[in-house]
Amino acid sequence: MPTMRAIQFGKKSGPLELVERELPQPRRGEVRVKVQACGVCHSDVIAKEGLIPAVRYPIIPGHEIAGVIDAVGEGVIGWSVGTRVGVGWFGGHCGRCDPCRRGELVDCRNLRVPGITYDGGYAEAMLAPADALALIPDELSAVEAAPLLCAGVTTYNALRESGARPGDLVAILGIGGLGHLGVQFAAKMGFRTVAIARGTDKEPLAKQLGAHIYLNSQTQDVAAELNKLGGAKTILATVTSGKAMSAVIPGLGVRGKLVVVGVGSDPIEVSPFDLIGASRSVVGHASGASIDSQDTLAFSALSGVRPTIETMPLERAAEAFDKMMRNEARFRMVLTTGQ
Ligand SMILES: [Zn+2]
Ligand SMILES: [Zn+2]
Repeated sequence: MPTMRAIQFGKKSGPLELVERELPQPRRGEVRVKVQACGVCHSDVIAKEGLIPAVRYPIIPGHEIAGVIDAVGEGVIGWSVGTRVGVGWFGGHCGRCDPCRRGELVDCRNLRVPGITYDGGYAEAMLAPADALALIPDELSAVEAAPLLCAGVTTYNALRESGARPGDLVAILGIGGLGHLGVQFAAKMGFRTVAIARGTDKEPLAKQLGAHIYLNSQTQDVAAELNKLGGAKTILATVTSGKAMSAVIPGLGVRGKLVVVGVGSDPIEVSPFDLIGASRSVVGHASGASIDSQDTLAFSALSGVRPTIETMPLERAAEAFDKMMRNEARFRMVLTTGQ
């Protein structure tokens, strides 16, 4: 029986452990992806801690998967062995629930997520339903493509659906795993791009990523500065602090939107006056479906957007995960299998 190396959480709140698993065979509607790279995302903690009931142990985490199809199950049309593909947060939809029937695939009530509802990409191979696949363009290596399948599609899709148009003032709050991609996408989409972070350390990097303006939230009144610039059409909130998000809301211009993609535990607070005054809104944005991931990869290939990554071999997954959890990744840890 052929086997593969995999990294799993054996039990709730347990450590990541290297195991030898039987090489899985694709069932009807699935392909097997030979994994080349898998990004380490903060949401992998959902698998570790069993934060949703769908998590079953042992579970192989990882939902920023890039590789090559190496086996195709029955009934799969349009995908063949040898094709370079990625799988992100969107790991398959049911096609039957009301959101699916309305075309809101990422809001499927039975949404499948690799590494959470089934085994993911911290392994030499994984099975994915064909509807979860995104084509990887030749211009992108596997390690570059991996983070674009979660951090990338989230920021790209949130920006392109925010209603901002070329030339509009768009601010990215936070320069981390999500934010460093958000700044690049915003600049390449033709927005007047403002990067907001704490301190001055990240200013040179933000400018290098394409930001036209940098605001230091430790020393500047960010909302007042944004208003001086005419008010932001969109602020993409990538930080994990509800308090930091709340502080920038008055910096939105008329009909401006705070688009929330960063997950924090403290609430966002806003005065009704600040919402009503300029008809502002605060909205959430959930990732995207596999075609949105494919669009993200194609746009990145076209425009030169690339994640800043640090790679580690698969067997050092626990170290990569800890580094991410300590917020020390600059900016995305990516596991490689050497395949
Ligand atoms: Zn993620
Ligand atoms: Zn559904």
